[in-house]
Amino acid sequence: MAAIESTGRIGAADRVQALPPYLFVEIDRVKKELAASGREIFDLGIGDPDLPTPAFVVEALAAAAKDPSTHRYPDGAGLPAFREAVAAFYKDRFGVTLDPATEVLALIGSKEGIGHLPLAVLNPGDLTLVPDPGYPVYSSGTTFAGAIPHLLPLRRENGFLPDLKAIPDGVLNKARLLYLNYPNNPTGAIAGEAFYRDAIAFASRHGILLCHDAAYSEITYEGPPSMSVLQIPGARETAIEMHSFSKIFNMTGWRCAFAVGRADVLAALGKLKNNMDSGVFTAVQRAGIAALSRWKEVVAGNLGTYRQRRDLVVAGLQGKFDLCPFPSTFYGWIALPKGENSGDAARRILQQTGVVLTPGRGFGENGEGYLRLSITSPTDRLARAVELLRQS
Ligand SMILES: *Cc1c(COP(=O)(O)O)cnc(C)c1O
Repeated sequence: MAAIESTGRIGAADRVQALPPYLFVEIDRVKKELAASGREIFDLGIGDPDLPTPAFVVEALAAAAKDPSTHRYPDGAGLPAFREAVAAFYKDRFGVTLDPATEVLALIGSKEGIGHLPLAVLNPGDLTLVPDPGYPVYSSGTTFAGAIPHLLPLRRENGFLPDLKAIPDGVLNKARLLYLNYPNNPTGAIAGEAFYRDAIAFASRHGILLCHDAAYSEITYEGPPSMSVLQIPGARETAIEMHSFSKIFNMTGWRCAFAVGRADVLAALGKLKNNMDSGVFTAVQRAGIAALSRWKEVVAGNLGTYRQRRDLVVAGLQGKFDLCPFPSTFYGWIALPKGENSGDAARRILQQTGVVLTPGRGFGENGEGYLRLSITSPTDRLARAVELLRQS
């Protein structure tokens, strides 16, 4: 893509120009340079499952795609059977009862839902409480709606949970949306029931919509299974949850996800989406129904692989890097020695070892001082990369 530079009247809008610059340009440049010189590159930068989508899901798609009735515009909110399958998953996995007609909405990936939500529920000038470091779409979607992100630092000494009590009253008065994400990208942290209870009490006390991003709900290695925020009493009046097939079923390319929770918020998001998109390809929804029907076995298989890789990273980096606790997700979060800049560290490590890690600064100002290591590479290549990091 060409660089965005607006000269004259034609070109990028202010809201696009105001997006933070792509922080990995320098890493990409060094990566290409090394690859061109014949160096072997181990890319542990991206969080995108290398494991294939389960064959039975691909077969369900193929069968559905042969049915011409799937070729027409889909049901924008999601097929009734899709929404029922989501509700059945929530009942089975979390013990949460959802009304498929009003408390489930299909999304074209949860990024789509997260990005559009502020346009559906915020007015210009409202504040969004955004965890930092965090998934960049929480902030960009907020600014697209003319609203303003207020960053909540996630600090290691707090287990990478935000300190909701530290938010000033002046901010609380204007805040209307709070994003949370556990199991967490990029820190790998998990949250327990007490935290969710506090968060729901906080949100309901201040009239703030809580949007919980549960993209990694099934990828935990330690502690109890992760929670849905909707397990907390009162949550369906205060919260919605974004969930996705992407990470737990190895389906990032399929663009299929869903939002659940407070019905009038989902109705607003659905109404906005009706004017933006026309929903998820019906054949993909049918494949999603198939995936959900066998979620336990798919999750167990994936988790076995990820657990082996996580253990390999934890053991391999010990004594060499300061790896934060790694109880969940695909991400190892490495603390750098005080004063070392994450961009410089990533470049140095790449030049020394050929291993690509993501500078923490790319996830927000409080990500500075950290590197993210993703375990979505084949296990033998990951093992080799960890060996190179060890020797560096
Ligand atoms: C990957 C990811 C998502 C988005 O997944 P989709 O593919 O858009 O469903 C959402 N949130 C977080 C934190 C992620 O890491």
